[in-house]
Amino acid sequence: MDEFSFIRSIAPKIHRQSGLIKGIGDDTAVFRQPYQDIVTAVDTFVEGVHFTRETMDPYHIGYRVLAANLSDIAAMGGTPAFYMISIVIPKEWTEKALKEIYKGMDDLASEYHMDLIGGDTVSGKQLSVSVTIIGHVEQNKVRYRSSARENDIVFATGTLGDAAAGLYLLTNQDTSLSQANSDYFIKRHRMPSPRVAFSQALQSAQRIALNDISDGIANEAAEIAEASNVSIHLYDEQLPVHQALQTFTSEQQRKWKLFGGEDFELIGTVPEQDWPIVTTAAEVAKIPVAKIGVVTKPARKPGRVVLQEGNQKTILDKAGYTHLK
Ligand code: ADP
Ligand code: MG
Repeated sequence: MDEFSFIRSIAPKIHRQSGLIKGIGDDTAVFRQPYQDIVTAVDTFVEGVHFTRETMDPYHIGYRVLAANLSDIAAMGGTPAFYMISIVIPKEWTEKALKEIYKGMDDLASEYHMDLIGGDTVSGKQLSVSVTIIGHVEQNKVRYRSSARENDIVFATGTLGDAAAGLYLLTNQDTSLSQANSDYFIKRHRMPSPRVAFSQALQSAQRIALNDISDGIANEAAEIAEASNVSIHLYDEQLPVHQALQTFTSEQQRKWKLFGGEDFELIGTVPEQDWPIVTTAAEVAKIPVAKIGVVTKPARKPGRVVLQEGNQKTILDKAGYTHLK
């Protein structure tokens, strides 16, 4: 397969975004977006580092890398519009398998009316897919990590630890779960749901801090606390988990829900009087949302996260270690 016929075969036949002037086919893409703030991010997914052929089919590779990007857009309060793909292709990959990667991306992209507007294709030793995403936000409405204030409510969407449980099931022999529960966790690993609709439904909130959960809630809470110069106090019994997570040991449950990552849920903080905006947004997006803690005064070292389990308080370390307070 030559590069040009490959690009022709993956080039979209239609444009979904009215602002798109030139997509694939010239030296750069061209789009017009004069009245909004633009948000953009890039994510790279490398075989052998982020996934293997055992944990992901080609379709999932495409779906998962775009989902991670969409989650970043959601965490900024943005509306996704365009994406570009840089792909490193090893010789042994067939055109059929490569098309499956693009199919995984396009299925998710069509849900959000996004256009693929360009990319780069090179050969190399390991498959690597790098996605650049471009979205927009109403002027001065971007949601920053630095917006948390003392006494805010801390919340999380969805359930935590699912993706880590899914990866565990894909890489270990474990037959203690029902097929349906096992399928659920594996799907959460391969095809996470970025919380774009929820974040867009929060538009009426005057002030809100948001971060997406790619590295585990302990780490993401610490990022908000650090950027906002506050501390965050989390209540263990309020952290939302899927009921089937109880099938695993308490050590696994704790590790996955606090440090598991890749769930691509959102953690955020809002003033108490705006909590109804958050619950309404969750209803609109048809996802669960839970109060999980409160924003407190900064400690001497900024960015402290404290986890309360019963009467015991623990300082959570970003890296996944915990020490007693
Ligand atoms: P140039 O030589 O100008 O860098 P290329 O030949 O690399 O252009 O690409 C031609 C067109 O195809 C460009 O519009 C580019 O953005 C697009 N393109 C190249 N590779 C990919 C890819 N893997 N996925 C999507 N679009 C691609
Ligand atoms: Mg050129």
